[in-house]
Amino acid sequence: MEASSPVDSDPTLPQLIPSVRCLSCDVCCRFPEKDSPLAPYFTAGEIQRAIERGIPSERFPDPQGCRIKLIPHPLGEGYICPAFDPAENGCRIYNDRPLDCRLFPLALMWDPSKSAVLLGYDRKCPFIVETLFEAAPFEYGRLMAARLESDEMIKDLQGHPGLVGEFQDDVMILTPLPRLSEALTGQKSAARSRPSPETVGLTPLTDTDRPLFESAIKRTRTELSSYSWPALMIWKDHFKYYWAIIDRQFCFFAGYVDGLFMPLPPIGASLTGKAVRRCFEIMDAVNPHSAISRIENLDAELVPFLDAMGFVVKPKEQEYLYDREALVRLSGDRYKSQRWACNRFVRDHPKDNVRLEPYRSSDLDDCLELYARWKDQQADHDPRSEDRMMLEDAASAHRRALTEFEALGLIGCVVRLAGKIVGYTFGYSFRPGIFCVLLEVADHRITGLSAYLFREFCREMSGHATIHAMGDSDLARLRAVKLSYHPSKIIPSYIVTRSP
Ligand code: SF4
Repeated sequence: MEASSPVDSDPTLPQLIPSVRCLSCDVCCRFPEKDSPLAPYFTAGEIQRAIERGIPSERFPDPQGCRIKLIPHPLGEGYICPAFDPAENGCRIYNDRPLDCRLFPLALMWDPSKSAVLLGYDRKCPFIVETLFEAAPFEYGRLMAARLESDEMIKDLQGHPGLVGEFQDDVMILTPLPRLSEALTGQKSAARSRPSPETVGLTPLTDTDRPLFESAIKRTRTELSSYSWPALMIWKDHFKYYWAIIDRQFCFFAGYVDGLFMPLPPIGASLTGKAVRRCFEIMDAVNPHSAISRIENLDAELVPFLDAMGFVVKPKEQEYLYDREALVRLSGDRYKSQRWACNRFVRDHPKDNVRLEPYRSSDLDDCLELYARWKDQQADHDPRSEDRMMLEDAASAHRRALTEFEALGLIGCVVRLAGKIVGYTFGYSFRPGIFCVLLEVADHRITGLSAYLFREFCREMSGHATIHAMGDSDLARLRAVKLSYHPSKIIPSYIVTRSP
């Protein structure tokens, strides 16, 4: 038998999850595919001990160290580890189980570029998902990271690189392991190019993270529209999103061509200075220049706290809320121009010619064509370059809304004139009683169409008392339009940097 080593015989590794919890869980040790890359890795010593405890040697294709060969579940429910006892729901070699299993729900894996080893929590473990905002898993993770970075452990892991698995997007990244990375790649961290978001501890956000994102958002009282999944996800062609839990705060990052920033501040029971400082450290580590590091969409109530911490807090754009009834009635002098526009549209087009219908997937091509036409009309109407760039950028957001409206939870409608689509709009239920209008396109050549579409869409949203028309992108023209509808509330938003 080979000499014992920290990798395969350390009985002192503390356990995070109470064993009673593990015994009642049905996730570990079971796998959907026969050749699952997540089958546990056994070192030579661990193989030897497993064989001594009755696991057939043919289950280990390489006696020097390998992933165990899985066997079919006796009830036909996928595959199981041969050491797993389905009747007892437990491991038959528990005290001699391999390090790979003792670490779980921690996972050792490569970053996507295979240049750094990351330590993270496998979110297939229900216990971890439930305790994500608690301090204990993070303290445990730090402790284990220190153990894995010890000289003794690194020496051993060098002999068993198979213990480091492929990148998995359902693992919440806790921290890179720079010493272990250097030992396994032979490359010094400093010699590598600027770190990627993954290697500074950020986890790429996927669609399966939506419940986590939404449970975090529910902790806030803000009415700023960026605190919603659809408003952020339609921009996925421009940004790659990441997240992390830092000091019990949900921290949301966006990577783009220039670097990394935070579209939202850290979200938790209350904002902590520790989380904000750490978020800036992370952004600075990834960004080529610290001026790129910033936090956007801060609610006014956070401003005094960040001011007091010495950050530079500046107003960004304003967002607009309206009383839905007022937008539908358009009564009184103050809505004179909007009423005129709607009346003009109704008068110009015989009732039988106009149809307001829910958006359907089959409307996609017509809507994309309309967007292209509308974009040119907008550019002719207002040739300022920043508007043109925004319209170019927005094309992919519109396409995403039009193609993924169901998955994003969007409600859309189109206006047809003599059967042809001349306008479309999309929105979503933002908070109880608040409906957010996300985007609207209306053929400029048709007088009054835009006002008509907005009024009729608001009329359809009768279950909501308030309409949210989002921000003005800090554009004077857009601000004037939004103000002309007489908002019931204007919400300021702020941006945080370290230098003016
Ligand atoms: S060795 Fe034990 S703990 Fe590890 S996967 Fe197999 S049954 Fe589960």
